[in-house]
Amino acid sequence: MDMQFSAQDTAFRDEVRAFLAESLPDHLRDGARRTPGVFVEPDIGIEWHKILYRKGWVAPHWPQEDGGTGWTPTQRFIFEKECALAGAPALSILGLRLVGPVICHFGTQEQKDRFLPGILAGEVYWCQGYSEPGSGSDLASLSTSARIEAGEYVINGSKIWTTHAHHADWIFALVRTNPDVKKQAGITFLLVPMAQPGVEVAPIVSMSGDHEVNQVFFSDARTSQANRIGEEGQGWTIAKFLLENERGGSCFAPRLLQSVAELEDMASNQPSGVNGAIAKDPRFRDRLSRTRLEAEALEVTELRILAELAKGRSPGPQTSLCKLLGSNIGQALDELRLELLGYDALQLPLERPLYGNEPPEPVGSDRAQIAMARFLNNRAATIFGGSDETQKNIIAKAVLRL
Ligand SMILES: Cc1cc2nc3c(=O)[nH]c(=O)nc-3n(C[C@H](O)[C@H](O)[C@H](O)COP(=O)(O)OP(=O)(O)OC[C@H]3O[C@@H](n4cnc5c(N)ncnc54)[C@H](O)[C@@H]3O)c2cc1C
Repeated sequence: MDMQFSAQDTAFRDEVRAFLAESLPDHLRDGARRTPGVFVEPDIGIEWHKILYRKGWVAPHWPQEDGGTGWTPTQRFIFEKECALAGAPALSILGLRLVGPVICHFGTQEQKDRFLPGILAGEVYWCQGYSEPGSGSDLASLSTSARIEAGEYVINGSKIWTTHAHHADWIFALVRTNPDVKKQAGITFLLVPMAQPGVEVAPIVSMSGDHEVNQVFFSDARTSQANRIGEEGQGWTIAKFLLENERGGSCFAPRLLQSVAELEDMASNQPSGVNGAIAKDPRFRDRLSRTRLEAEALEVTELRILAELAKGRSPGPQTSLCKLLGSNIGQALDELRLELLGYDALQLPLERPLYGNEPPEPVGSDRAQIAMARFLNNRAATIFGGSDETQKNIIAKAVLRL
């Protein structure tokens, strides 16, 4: 889809393109392309993060006074789109898009001064402690508890599916500080250092062989009262603010459209199956075209949300729509990729990483080497950040008012 950009926006796009051409190293592009996980590994992500930080472009969606770029929503969109087109690694959302905006919005000046510089510089890595065994979709039922003892919170319980907890310096966690009130009212948002005896991280390896998520155990773990964001009992309000950013604070469409373009290229130039039969199949081409249209429609919705943000509003429940559509379109593309690759997709290398000095030899192409692992990992996209059913319930209630 051709967007009508102003001359100023076109000049900005050219500036971004020139920067990417000059500053995005090939090994980061290659690493991103050969990462089958849902999340980019920190060695790649942090290197790119630091390059963007040095340029002053790492946190486009933060308030300018806290280190944001001051870009218009259109400029943010252009930046994301150009990064996707250039094949740049997607940065970890945990610090920049999740806890960072929470601290900007709800934190005290002392908390901003203490935590924001490390997030911006890519020096401090975060993980998200929301889900628990037994509390996922029904997050408000969470039971990890925190009580105050000698000026500190003492935390007991467990979090699960904690992405990159094994890399993290800090976890932002929802904890129950009052069991005697309505369940949403008894939750508090704490920042907890990971390097302490009371915090244990146990790996969970996914069906593709990737280690991205973990279970985190708190046994009398401690954090200062100064590390509470907002008031005691305000955690649910903060949790919802953060989830809206997680579901729609970034744009899904640019990377989806980049994947569509990649599949179109594969269908034209790397025909597979008997005499390239799959790529020529009108039903396959029809499905690919439909998926492109869905991704383009999502792009328009995301632009509308960016326009809302420009007016100072929070992203709102319509971000659930983006999350629902973005994850489903991504999975549809994964399936089309497997079909297109045919037999070559039937490989599941377990070595990690698949980039670097001596990557394992692919059967067929590099693209084929990671297609199956990527497909398996991305099944999680319709679960994390709130499952499809959860998003549909939110849309029914808060958007459609049913
Ligand atoms: C790869 C991955 C990474 C993740 N990373 C993190 C992380 O970093 N931090 C974190 O805190 N969490 C993380 N999660 C957890 C994720 O947010 C939860 O898995 C998700 O919220 C679903 O919760 P659950 O797994 O407990 O499933 P459940 O809530 O038990 O749901 C099971 C099934 O029931 C359905 N269901 C539940 N309630 C309803 C309802 N009311 N109506 C209709 N259907 C319903 C669900 O849609 C789902 O299909 C991650 C998950 C994955 C898979």
